[in-house]
Amino acid sequence: MLEQLCGFDGIDMKRIYLDHASSMPIDPRVLKFAMPFLNKNYENPSSIYSGGLETKRAIEESRRKIAELVNAENTNNIIFTSSATESNNLAIKGTALRNIGNGKNILASAIEHISVLNPMKELQKNGYTYDIIPVDSNGLVDLDRLENLLTNQTIITSIMYANNEIGTIEPIKKISKIVHENGKYLHVDATASAGRIPIDVQDQEIDLLTISSNDMYGPRGASALYVKQGLKIQSILPGGGQERGIRSGTENVFAIVGMGEAARLAKNDMNMESSRLKNIRDKLIHEILKIDNAYLTGHPVKRLPHHVSFRFSHIEGESILLNMDMSNIQISTGSACSSKTLEPSHVLLAIGLKHEEAHGSMVITLGKSNNLELVPDIVKVVKETVNRLRKLSPLSNLR
Ligand code: PMP
Repeated sequence: MLEQLCGFDGIDMKRIYLDHASSMPIDPRVLKFAMPFLNKNYENPSSIYSGGLETKRAIEESRRKIAELVNAENTNNIIFTSSATESNNLAIKGTALRNIGNGKNILASAIEHISVLNPMKELQKNGYTYDIIPVDSNGLVDLDRLENLLTNQTIITSIMYANNEIGTIEPIKKISKIVHENGKYLHVDATASAGRIPIDVQDQEIDLLTISSNDMYGPRGASALYVKQGLKIQSILPGGGQERGIRSGTENVFAIVGMGEAARLAKNDMNMESSRLKNIRDKLIHEILKIDNAYLTGHPVKRLPHHVSFRFSHIEGESILLNMDMSNIQISTGSACSSKTLEPSHVLLAIGLKHEEAHGSMVITLGKSNNLELVPDIVKVVKETVNRLRKLSPLSNLR
């Protein structure tokens, strides 16, 4: 039934894939829709003959679908880029550089993705300053500190809609009110949340919003940045003047068209899919919490519908990941960037965990190929893995 619903033949059904925040298969409906733009409608959208006009029209249609997903006031307020990383860079650098006369201070929460934090640090070389807003033990931004840190020099504040590692959803409407009373512009990284939970840039008074294609079953190689009507940003990729001169480079038409269709489907399916995943999420949390010294990370209630994250005392996240992989279950142990360096995640440290606590983390992000019937198998493997690793752990006698 589920396979029929999803048609996800890209996934080997024998394995249980629980790492949708890292990567997802393209939705077969999206692939079918966008495929002609790989091999049939290949004309350059800047060409003014009929084929070019057709690909241009397809891009504009995709822009409209993405504008609808987040309730942008105008389709022209959507700028296509190549990745969420690029959208975040464009938001931070583009806004700061273009509005330099209005302030040189940038704020971001301590749990932002590295593609927000690094551009901010880079701007320091150009004379900008930045401050980090702390979060509480559930990952919620400290609103008093935000208010205190904002000055008339604060040109842009960046707070993610929901965190990819601990699932916590931030109170964006409250945050935008505070930012607009004192500072200038609010950028929201919605990579982990767009297509999963409702986002309304007008109601929530968001100035810039990052939306990722491959985080909503669209193709890789496309992302979007919503830029509020009237807000001027500087191009960080000058060239042939595509995307209203803000983001040059011949458009990746296949990925852009696919992203639009993925956005349309996500909007349609959101309510049903979110409540389906929430059921699985809550059952998993309930069962995994029964394991000794297992602690949920992130907010217990204000969390993404598909997000389950834990830490286990006395064992390493990497060992959990590799052991579970031997049972054909793929999970994550935090941000892909920190898993490369084996450094504890800056997100887990920001919520107040000690280094040794932050090392034992496990992140499950659910998706269309998962169902409620898988829960007992997943829980069994998590329990066995944790028990086995604890027996081997030199710290196990400390339990
Ligand atoms: N922001 C968030 C919240 C993320 O989780 C990620 C990674 N998926 C990114 C930005 C960057 O995405 P990408 O690597 O696709 O550019």
